[in-house]
Amino acid sequence: MIVPTQEISLPLLKEHRVSLCVRREDTIHPMISGNKFRKLKYNLEKAKEEHYHTLITFGGAYSNHIPATAFAGKQQGFKTIGIIRGEELEFSWKTNPTLANASELGMTFKFISRDTYRKKDEPDFIDKLLETFGRSYIIPEGGTNDLAIRGCEEILAAADKEYEVVCCSVGTGGTIAGIINASAAHQQILGFTALKGEFLQKDICKFTAKRNWELCTAYHFGGYAKILPELITFINDFKKVTGIPLDPVYTGKMMYGIMDLIGKGYFEPGTKILAIHTGGLQGIRGMNQYLSKKKLPLITI
Ligand SMILES: *Cc1c(COP(=O)(O)O)cnc(C)c1O
Repeated sequence: MIVPTQEISLPLLKEHRVSLCVRREDTIHPMISGNKFRKLKYNLEKAKEEHYHTLITFGGAYSNHIPATAFAGKQQGFKTIGIIRGEELEFSWKTNPTLANASELGMTFKFISRDTYRKKDEPDFIDKLLETFGRSYIIPEGGTNDLAIRGCEEILAAADKEYEVVCCSVGTGGTIAGIINASAAHQQILGFTALKGEFLQKDICKFTAKRNWELCTAYHFGGYAKILPELITFINDFKKVTGIPLDPVYTGKMMYGIMDLIGKGYFEPGTKILAIHTGGLQGIRGMNQYLSKKKLPLITI
């Protein structure tokens, strides 16, 4: 898969004499996050090899992983079931753009309470699911497992060794683990956490033995899917100037962080930076619903 790379030209970059390229994984599909595609690739191969017909996975109401699984499942002939956090959604999911989209792609839902959702990885809970839905291939929340990380190793190509720094957004840490595994020793991988995830450092260590990486935890804007007017302005300005749309949950926060670090002189002059645009654009519609309820400015589409 050839994914385009776009060089950004901005006065800030010239001033600090660094170069910034964006790997447009968001162009893999207009609605499906690029990294979710990569995470599903080897999982679906395995499910096929083992003759599964149904995929079960888990997520919140705005999860990028939910429509990605619905889409990939439909494309490859699997039935898909989404176990969704929040029983109140049973009656309102049709007005949620993420879930409505997944449903159109053939996914059926089971809505469970937040308490039950916390137990979703326990063997008893899984056994009950399999009793209800029959033999099924289970994909964890966010899609992160060993096979997902193998898929994410394909985000970096051999030619990317020219970049000294590679940046990506971090949710569960699966994507960055794949990028770290595929990186060269002279490269530094910078992860921008999209949530207050004190556990992430440890989680990522479980998936990779390399040490050429670091997490920037200063740009989560209050936590997962939390947003401030300042971030909306940044996302809209960035799109106006570069033509690149960013999502409010992951890539917007990453790019804000990259620009902030550049402005603070964090990178040595001459540094070549590659930022991975993981996608997430499907989440903009749901976020705009929320923003318009709060009478805040919207993200331009
Ligand atoms: C899920 C997601 C991430 C985070 O990926 P993890 O592997 O969970 O760290 C980053 N960007 C986008 C757009 C995503 O949808």
